[in-house]
Amino acid sequence: MTIEEEIKKRRTFAIISHPDAGKTTITEQLLKFGGAIREAGTVKARKTGNFAKSDWMDIEKERGISVTSSVMQFDYAGKRVNILDTPGHEDFSEDTYRTLMAVDAAVMVIDSAKGIEAQTKKLFQVVKHRNIPVFTFINKLDRGGREPLDLLSELEDILGIQSVPMNWPIGMGKNFQGLYDFYNRRIEVYQPEDDERFVALDEKGEIPAEHTLTQNPFYAQALEDAELLQDAGNEFDEEAVIAGKLTPVFFGSALTSFGVQTFLETFLEYAPEPHAHKTVEDTEVEPFNPDFSGFIFKIQANMDPRHRDRIAFLRIVSGEFERGMDATLLRTGKKIKLSNVTQFMAEARENVENAVAGDIIGVYDTGTYQVGDTLATGKLKTAFEPLPTFTPELFMRVQAKNVMKQKSFHKGIEQLVQEGAVQLYRTYTTGDLMLGAVGQLQFEVFKDRMEREYNAEIVMTPMGNKTVRWINPDQLDEKMSSSRNILARDRFEHPLFLFENEFALRWFKDKYPDVELMEQFSV
Ligand code: GDP
Repeated sequence: MTIEEEIKKRRTFAIISHPDAGKTTITEQLLKFGGAIREAGTVKARKTGNFAKSDWMDIEKERGISVTSSVMQFDYAGKRVNILDTPGHEDFSEDTYRTLMAVDAAVMVIDSAKGIEAQTKKLFQVVKHRNIPVFTFINKLDRGGREPLDLLSELEDILGIQSVPMNWPIGMGKNFQGLYDFYNRRIEVYQPEDDERFVALDEKGEIPAEHTLTQNPFYAQALEDAELLQDAGNEFDEEAVIAGKLTPVFFGSALTSFGVQTFLETFLEYAPEPHAHKTVEDTEVEPFNPDFSGFIFKIQANMDPRHRDRIAFLRIVSGEFERGMDATLLRTGKKIKLSNVTQFMAEARENVENAVAGDIIGVYDTGTYQVGDTLATGKLKTAFEPLPTFTPELFMRVQAKNVMKQKSFHKGIEQLVQEGAVQLYRTYTTGDLMLGAVGQLQFEVFKDRMEREYNAEIVMTPMGNKTVRWINPDQLDEKMSSSRNILARDRFEHPLFLFENEFALRWFKDKYPDVELMEQFSV
């Protein structure tokens, strides 16, 4: 197989959802279809088993658990599938967002009883910003949820995306009969009496009159809905899907593995192959460019505390990676031999022999790399666009525990902030240090790394949630600071306010209507 053919096989995506919608369950099902795990439960072990927060810090346990499940790879129907994990719950961090910079498509899992929830909304915004295709899986139909039509209008009203149902539930919960599959022109029966899982539709879109389902009122309802959708719904439009303007919607039940395979097959048919990536000079690097290139979107630290080693996750943008090859780190111009590199088959880390555009590799790192770095070979000399930074919502004051250790404290902060582990701010007048993050775990990892890697114990004092707005420096008057906001600078010396809450922000806007406040860097 040529490299081009290899690249065309790649399908690299992330699953986005709110905690408990069923991401883990569906991931396991997908891996099972791919033959990557023998039994469902492997992914779950990470979540429920030994993965309490304190264990995250326990290096030995963490090793091989979170890393292997960060990227899961399997083959299905002639495609090489890469699923990137976007952790939820307390693991939620900027890494979660950045991971979305490394995928070509997203799968959005929604709980049919809950509809669109907060975290789905946040993650969707990042995906939308990139205009990548989103495929929606509405889950837990075996349990009964909200009206399917309601759920579709939520996609439009809350997320602002048009939808096109690929199939439609026939009943729900106790009355769940199966799926009316518009796309494959068949009915997928939930609990078939006679092993006949799929029943073909005739020209009129119906099943043979002698089938028992025809007597079922929920079937009649589904036919009615189907007619309505035909008249008033969106048509499937591949171009709009690829542009991220239209999301194909699939219904199903991950737990009973119903509708998941149908979803996977249709998804793989339409999910895009690896895309070109923009450079800082606004040019693009095509995946088929023979020179190898890629960018680092995440650094997993503390693989081994004795060596301060880490794994830098690199998305290959072009060409082929071969073990032992030399590549240039464009930020420093330094040549690096890439010999200690892992790839991620679902259960074990393996040494990678070769990988191509679309794949993710884990590069062994002793402190060389930063998030956003470009590695390239040959004629490729222009770095990729920097990754966006994400506006933090959670804040902590931070100090060195031992005043005698200021030097290592500052060195640690500087390096970890540069690496993108947390955001750093200083109060405007007194210069007190504050850390900002999108998820609590970022602080804990930061604290742990300060101690382990820089021998600097720190004291963090929670400040809670804040709403951040940058202010035009020319308009700044220090008197604008009040008890409801904190005036601060970011690490580029840009002035900003941390508002107590939305109310405080509105109050400020009312008081200073001419002052320009910016949600800088937010997506
Ligand atoms: P995650 O937090 O999004 O990864 O969610 P999980 O996959 O861990 O699922 C959360 C809970 O919902 C678990 O108890 C699952 O067993 C359950 N669950 C997931 N999918 C389904 C489904 O299709 N039907 C039902 N009834 N429960 C489900």
